[in-house]
Amino acid sequence: MLSYWQNKSHFIDHEYDLVILGAGVCGLSLAYWAQKYGGKIAILEKGIVGAGASGKNAGFLTGGNLNYFASLLEHYGEDKAIELWRFTTENVALVKHELDLDTNNKVSEYHESGTISLFRTTDNLMRIRHAFELLKKNKFDVEELSAPFDFEKAYKIKTDASYNPVEVLNLLKAKLVNTVIYEHTHCLGLKQQGDFVELQTNKGPIFAKKVIMALNAFTGELLPEIKAKITPVRAQMCYLKTKADALSMANYSIPSERIYMRRYGDGILIGGMRYLDEQNENTAHEELNPKIQNALIERCEKYFGSCQLLHKWCGIMGFTQDEQPIVGRSKYNANVFYIGGYSGHGNGYAFKLSKNLIDEYFAK
Ligand SMILES: Cc1cc2nc3c(=O)[nH]c(=O)nc-3n(C[C@H](O)[C@H](O)[C@H](O)COP(=O)(O)OP(=O)(O)OC[C@H]3O[C@@H](n4cnc5c(N)ncnc54)[C@H](O)[C@@H]3O)c2cc1C
Repeated sequence: MLSYWQNKSHFIDHEYDLVILGAGVCGLSLAYWAQKYGGKIAILEKGIVGAGASGKNAGFLTGGNLNYFASLLEHYGEDKAIELWRFTTENVALVKHELDLDTNNKVSEYHESGTISLFRTTDNLMRIRHAFELLKKNKFDVEELSAPFDFEKAYKIKTDASYNPVEVLNLLKAKLVNTVIYEHTHCLGLKQQGDFVELQTNKGPIFAKKVIMALNAFTGELLPEIKAKITPVRAQMCYLKTKADALSMANYSIPSERIYMRRYGDGILIGGMRYLDEQNENTAHEELNPKIQNALIERCEKYFGSCQLLHKWCGIMGFTQDEQPIVGRSKYNANVFYIGGYSGHGNGYAFKLSKNLIDEYFAK
């Protein structure tokens, strides 16, 4: 709780060229790219940096697994699917380059470990093979591996990586030079006042020439036109100590069980399985779901024997209908923009998509 005096002096300044709402991977990326064009920038965050999905995720730096690419092919056809895949591959390369990520450098938890998808005979293996061959033909760095356990096929996307998402948010934050981040600052509403957008917050008003909402699952709360387009979805995660050396250091996805896991430290980070209780997981309420949490442990024990639960948590993501993020300008206020709806792939899209938004609308 803040006193009147603390509240009064909360904002260093009250007028900014750009105010970004939300300090997740997307909000910080927007500030990173916007600062190249100058101007005074502020980020308002209702909690702390990474309070949303960006601080809760599994840390896969990927645009998706091979099964996801097969779905893109079905949904969009070959050309568009390749274009989307190229975008996420370029995003991964851009993150690595701009943040100097390297397996051997100061970011101790960064690994260029790839994403391995494991398939059974019950999966449509022809569909998967076709997707794999197409990626190969288009010169993406993929390979077939021998499959572990009782799986039939294993394919690796070699350009993917994994990291500690909080560590990466801190790296991004350290690169912000003319941006002020106001934590514990909840934006409650906004309206145009002359040349400025007035943002009402729990700490009083603040004014901006332009506003970008990087609120992901929560965009619709401030921008009703987006409410039906980005909907909140919860995801459960746990970290289990187990015989992790049964797996090589990598991200794993098992589409037949709709589960993903990652070898991390001396254990396994494991998450997913929304389908087990979709009704309850379509929510913005941050709460553990015992049904899914128990199932995660059960699945892990099936592969690795007995496991010790080290930590469990959940987070809220924003999903769009076609599971592709959306970017745009508000229909009702030309100074207000939005970006989000990464549908479980924010690490794989947000950095480059933020750059595109800034270059398109904010380049002088
Ligand atoms: C459990 C879990 C596992 C995941 N695993 C992966 C993965 O391995 N790889 C991957 O690519 N993606 C993963 N994702 C998805 C990924 O985390 C998100 O796509 C990404 O973090 C979205 O970033 P963002 O900045 O758009 O949103 P967020 O990180 O959600 O940031 C939005 C911010 O806005 C703030 N906010 C909300 N309302 C207001 C307001 N009115 N005023 C001020 N601030 C406000 C919130 O506090 C929050 O910090 C996972 C998600 C979850 C939940």
